[in-house]
Amino acid sequence: MVEKLIIIGSGPAGYTAAIYGIRDGLNPLLIRGFEVGGQLMLTSAVENFPGFSSILGPDLMDAMAKHVDSLNVRKIDKNVERVDLSSYPYKVFTDDQTFEAYSLIIASGASAKWLGLENEKRLIGKGVSGCATCDGFFFKGKDVAVIGGGDSAMEDATYLSGLAKSVTVIHRRHEFRASKIMQDRLLANPKIKVIWDSVVVDILGKDKVEGIKIKNNVDGKETSINLDGVFIAIGHEPNTAIVKGQLDLDKEGYIITKEFTKTSKPGVFAVGDVQDRKYKQAVIAAGWGSMAAIDARKFLMEKKLLD
Ligand code: NAP
Repeated sequence: MVEKLIIIGSGPAGYTAAIYGIRDGLNPLLIRGFEVGGQLMLTSAVENFPGFSSILGPDLMDAMAKHVDSLNVRKIDKNVERVDLSSYPYKVFTDDQTFEAYSLIIASGASAKWLGLENEKRLIGKGVSGCATCDGFFFKGKDVAVIGGGDSAMEDATYLSGLAKSVTVIHRRHEFRASKIMQDRLLANPKIKVIWDSVVVDILGKDKVEGIKIKNNVDGKETSINLDGVFIAIGHEPNTAIVKGQLDLDKEGYIITKEFTKTSKPGVFAVGDVQDRKYKQAVIAAGWGSMAAIDARKFLMEKKLLD
């Protein structure tokens, strides 16, 4: 059996594509992956998704999953290990199954890069965050650090300066990678202090973040700083390993789309954080998911693969 549509990913983009796909008669197969729910499963309260003044990220994803279930969307909770776009119908492989499909929606998202420290992992959601716009509110009047020197770090630090008592940006070199305008804005902000040439070597605290230990890259000196929150802003990695070499990617690995959701292969659409290098918001990913399902339907109609 050849599927009309396979959707890869279970963040807001994948779930919304599934809702539109099934209602549009595409009978999609949703391959959710092992990390069901995507990045929102790692956040605390979401307060900017329309319809919910405040909802925990995992609860929001659970609501989307239930919505999809109520429509009887077929789903598989395995990782896609690879796809083969060299012949048509396209092939999708999990560890033990192979599927064929006339159209694909890649909504495999992105993963925040982390520093890789043991205590960082332990304290995620307890003062360690990868998302300032999601979690900044909880640090009102507190002392926080932002790690990184790119636009994300500038943006996060500037955003947090409107909430926190103090913001310390810690960057591993003596110059930022970020655009000049964002650097200038940050450096002119009296609530933001920058510590240059330094890396975080440990995150301190038993049940919640109480501080960090940093090491100066020039003189090797280690210092501890008392803090309530640490925002890691060292970039995101789009989850594109399964299509690398088969779809056009930009230099940072994001899938390049044209005419909204189309990739370099006909019938393959990419949406959400796997192709959105700029906004990276749940509500935007959901919108893109609906667009991809509409575009997949149009593609299948034109190919006369739909009744
Ligand atoms: P990025 O540009 O890749 O910057 C990542 C930063 O984190 C760099 O300064 C890097 O240091 C540092 N870093 C990386 N790994 C690290 C590690 N293990 N330990 C310590 N520091 C580490 O990522 P981004 O800031 O997320 O931006 C990604 C893209 O999105 C960029 O093209 C950016 O322009 C765009 N963006 C735009 C906006 C906007 O226009 N409003 C906002 C956010 C992002 P080095 O500099 O030493 O490599």
